Amino acid sequence: MKILLTGAAGFLGSHLVAKLLAEGHEVIGIDDLSTGTLENLKFASKSKAFEFVRHDVREPYRAKVDAILNFACPASPKSYQLDPVRTIETNFLGIINLLHLAKETGAIVLQASTSEVYGDPTISPQPESYWGNVNPIGIRSCYDEGKRAAETLCFDYKRQFGVDTRVVRIFNTYGPNMSVGDGRVVSNFIVQALQGRPITIYGDGSQTRSFCFVSDLIDGIYKMLTSAKSIESPINLGNPNEFSMLQLAERVIRLNHSTSELVFKPLPQDDPQQRKPDIGLAKKILEWGPKVDLEEGIKLTSAYFRQELGI
Ligand code: NAD
Ligand code: UDP
Repeated sequence: MKILLTGAAGFLGSHLVAKLLAEGHEVIGIDDLSTGTLENLKFASKSKAFEFVRHDVREPYRAKVDAILNFACPASPKSYQLDPVRTIETNFLGIINLLHLAKETGAIVLQASTSEVYGDPTISPQPESYWGNVNPIGIRSCYDEGKRAAETLCFDYKRQFGVDTRVVRIFNTYGPNMSVGDGRVVSNFIVQALQGRPITIYGDGSQTRSFCFVSDLIDGIYKMLTSAKSIESPINLGNPNEFSMLQLAERVIRLNHSTSELVFKPLPQDDPQQRKPDIGLAKKILEWGPKVDLEEGIKLTSAYFRQELGI
């Protein structure tokens, strides 16, 4: 296939470029380099099957492609809250522009949605049928509501224009190619542990997340892209093993033989208390499940950050 991938220079985008090239596809990677970096794409720069275009998805882009993967959007709360209007524009205008292109060209659209569509969930684990508990006017809303509107557009373009849209709801994923200053919890804790700096726990650290290693997620996304079945629901992709932030910190410190201590900082507004995917649909429809456990993933990610930090 000829594939247009937005957000190609980011954490997940760069892993997807590697996977798509390895599977023999041609890739046009577009990115405005706002949180991503060309360093992440160095490995692909000599490939004849890869082209990089610096472009902001808020503006239309035209190309004749078979599939469009929309991953352009800052994903770390620290980044998406820096310029919230830009974040919601990226989500809303970005997907409209891409769906319009798909309607004209017949391309499949795969949208990177998020567990954030469930907000601060009142049930656990979260199945795709749960409508969520989202604050529409809080500091996370630019991201949450932007992603929810993008899902709406995907399903409206499917119903109204017959576009083949596929939506994956990604739960906290981590691994190599995250930037040192990304701000998300796994990268923060590992970088702090490696530098012997205090580990910053927001709130009392009892809030939970379920962490998925990047190679597992990329396998799930690829299965979603290439599935011959018609998929009528968004699909959760994540690792259902749930940990509190205190448990995560303990593992990061132990596995890196770190001397870092814990410091407690205020819990940001609307920070979800719990998050755990129900991956029954992914198992049934895609025959997919995660393989890498948290300890193995922390080791692999720590090795990457050690190299990045020259430690
Ligand atoms: P990231 O910040 O590393 O990557 C996002 C990429 O999008 C960056 O390269 C950035 O430069 C680019 N970008 C941002 N705004 C853009 C714009 N207007 N035009 C063009 N490019 C733009 O984050 P990530 O973790 O790789 O996330 C990628 C996608 O996956 C995002 O859509 C995110 O919402 C989604 N997602 C990620 C996770 C996760 O745990 N990593 C969870 C849920 C959803
Ligand atoms: N968090 C933390 N310390 C940090 C960064 C994050 O305790 O240095 C917490 C944050 O408050 C949240 C969880 O870790 O409860 C996950 O945060 P992240 O920003 O990685 O992603 P989120 O799932 O909140 O979008």
